[in-house]
Amino acid sequence: MISIDPLEAAPKTYLSVHDVLDEPAADALLTDREREVRATARAVVAESVAPRAEHADRTHGFVAESVRALADAQLMGLVFPPALGGTGDTNVAYAVAMEEITAGCAATSLVFMTQMHTAFPIMLAGGDALARRYVPGLLDGSRWGSLGITEPNAGSDVASMRTVATESAGGFRLSGSKTFITTGDRADVIVCFAVTDRSRGRKGISAFVVEGDWDGVRRGTPFDKMGMHGSSTAELFFDDVAVPAGNLLGGAGEGWSVVMRSVVKSRISAAAQGVGLARAAYARTLYALTRRHGARLPDEQTFALATLRGRILQGRLLLLAVARRADEDSEVAPGQIGMMKQSCTDLGWETAVECTRLLGPLGDLESVGVERCLRDAKVTQIYDGTNEVQRLLIGRETSRSVEAFS
Ligand SMILES: Cc1cc2nc3c(=O)[nH]c(=O)nc-3n(C[C@H](O)[C@H](O)[C@H](O)COP(=O)(O)OP(=O)(O)OC[C@H]3O[C@@H](n4cnc5c(N)ncnc54)[C@H](O)[C@@H]3O)c2cc1C
Repeated sequence: MISIDPLEAAPKTYLSVHDVLDEPAADALLTDREREVRATARAVVAESVAPRAEHADRTHGFVAESVRALADAQLMGLVFPPALGGTGDTNVAYAVAMEEITAGCAATSLVFMTQMHTAFPIMLAGGDALARRYVPGLLDGSRWGSLGITEPNAGSDVASMRTVATESAGGFRLSGSKTFITTGDRADVIVCFAVTDRSRGRKGISAFVVEGDWDGVRRGTPFDKMGMHGSSTAELFFDDVAVPAGNLLGGAGEGWSVVMRSVVKSRISAAAQGVGLARAAYARTLYALTRRHGARLPDEQTFALATLRGRILQGRLLLLAVARRADEDSEVAPGQIGMMKQSCTDLGWETAVECTRLLGPLGDLESVGVERCLRDAKVTQIYDGTNEVQRLLIGRETSRSVEAFS
């Protein structure tokens, strides 16, 4: 039986619930600067991101203002050098900021990370001229970015990619389509992957920077999705698009290597979303249960919350440990990255499911916000390499141990 007004179960302010999981064991791993970044992110989220989240979810309105508020606070360029408009911070700083943003509005975190996922390969492989032309606008929020890998029949199985780029006078002609592309409906700058030499498999894939308003580029209508309503996901179509040779990232055939060198960043993003969603679900559940039961919660709920709290701390420690490895050594093993991505995104989903159980009917209320965490968490297990694919990567490393034992 419900003994409180259901509307009372919804937290009125972001900060009243979102500092409950600052755990000393995780805080001890942060530098002063990383704590400063977290404090900045939390303040911007409380002021400009979280208050817009429920409305964006209900209306499917794109979270442009929330993302620009983060850019204005110099948060979008955390892992980029000052020369490109960034702040030269660590992957750990990026991870803690992403956790904060996700806890306030997961859809905002998806658009935010996609700006970085678009800018990072350009910085990595585009050389000085391309980086200066495209990266600053992505980091200050004046241009929207998209990363185009997935096609109707090629996501996990990237070797089946059909989009092609053929050499022509002065550059390439690009034809094909992409699907499920974040911010694809409005992308100004697209990092698009295409086959330049089919005989070479993954080594025949190249990456290009394409502008959304070039002749032959068409941006699709956003899909209606289960979660992340404040972000857009759409198809992209390329009809014999002329791409200058200078917009090739790295050399021909280096596209997959660009993906692989960027993957630790994108998987830190997804993992931080998992931890952020778990924290949001926990904090909202704790708030609602306290409103319902007062200061003394039933033992069953106290025990369940204790288990969740421990798991969230474990997830955060794993996230920070792998992000720190990436700061110290850019060659983090795929299995390590995979364990972080799979464990943390499963954490987000499983915590939201468990919180929904604990809340009973309150878990079903939009105003409480846990059902949104649940809907938003699902896709984090799917993109940036599905969690089944992560298990394959982890399994490959396990197989090497098995071989060594046999
Ligand atoms: C909201 C959203 C945003 C996205 N944003 C982007 C974006 O910005 N850019 C972009 O390029 N893509 C994006 N994607 C696409 C996403 O990355 C892919 O859908 C994802 O990688 C899965 O690839 P797929 O579509 O080929 O699915 P499939 O690989 O066909 O997956 C279907 C099922 O098969 C499983 N599976 C596939 N291969 C194996 C295997 N070898 N072993 C075991 N199981 C396997 C998968 O785990 C999954 O359960 C987005 C998707 C969504 C839903």
